[in-house]
Amino acid sequence: MREPGVKGVNARRVIELRWDPTLSEWVMISNIRESRPWRPTSESACPFCPGSPEVGERSEAPFLLENRFPMLVPDPPRLDGVGEYPLVKAPGRGECYVIVESLEHDLPDLSFVGVDGVAKVIEEVANLTRRAMGEGYAYVLWFRNRGEEVGVSLTHPHSQVYVTPFTPSKVLRELTSAWRYFRLRGECLFCKVLKEELRSGERVVLEGGGFAAFVPFYAHWPFEVHIYPERHVQLLTQLSREEVRGLAEALVKVLKALDKVFDKPMPYVLATHQAPLRGEYPHYHLHIEIYGMLRASGKLKYAAGMEQGGGNFTYDSTPEDAAERLRQALRRVEEHG
Ligand code: ZN
Ligand code: ZN
Ligand code: FE
Repeated sequence: MREPGVKGVNARRVIELRWDPTLSEWVMISNIRESRPWRPTSESACPFCPGSPEVGERSEAPFLLENRFPMLVPDPPRLDGVGEYPLVKAPGRGECYVIVESLEHDLPDLSFVGVDGVAKVIEEVANLTRRAMGEGYAYVLWFRNRGEEVGVSLTHPHSQVYVTPFTPSKVLRELTSAWRYFRLRGECLFCKVLKEELRSGERVVLEGGGFAAFVPFYAHWPFEVHIYPERHVQLLTQLSREEVRGLAEALVKVLKALDKVFDKPMPYVLATHQAPLRGEYPHYHLHIEIYGMLRASGKLKYAAGMEQGGGNFTYDSTPEDAAERLRQALRRVEEHG
């Protein structure tokens, strides 16, 4: 029988992980996402606005909602077996949330929520991380997509959290590099990168409140900015209240500067990299990565042949130049708002 919300030739609900044995990483498969809404045209159809069945009569934001079209669920359908190597699968056990950042439907970006609001959003993610630890999950990834260029289907300001049964591939690669460096040099790779970036200053966008933002020496995306806590911590849950505020301030400034570079909304992807939830990772260092995707006004950087096919990025300017433009943009933000 066809299950509600499930489309396609395969009417069975499928929520599973499949192992790519060639790249050694998981792919998340969910067919309940095929029916998810695509850009509702009126505010009244917005599922994140007060008055919608999911939001009800709330008067305060941010708040957490369960994603109605999750990639992962706490009780995934039973598998008829996990398969045999090389074609192996696992249950898609996890949790997917939306953080509605504001009650205002038309707010253009997270930065418009203000420092207090952003601090509350970070606290939500930290609380969720604490809870996920207790439930034996592997990882909590907080991310935000901005702009229809990156496929945002609902414009009401929101970000997302995936609570996963595995550690994301990119974080695993960082952990491996950091572990090697730590064994070799006895110090944190990220602390060292930060120290070198601050020493040269060429690519630093801002520093203050216990955080530094810079365009990495090895930036992949045109306006890529990383925000590091100056204190060596691994998880959002380790940040003090003052540090959460410091991070919120840095984030608001960076996002506002990104919009000021071309005086138009910068499409971006933001992701938080924290340590896995199980085990100890003293060699890892919490940070936020933001990938600003316009390389010129109206010119979007695509991850295409070399990037998708080869896995290596091509950068059409220099990270030093991008940092200088971001510093100028930030000065304009501070002068004129
Ligand atoms: Zn809305
Ligand atoms: Zn460190
Ligand atoms: Fe990272």
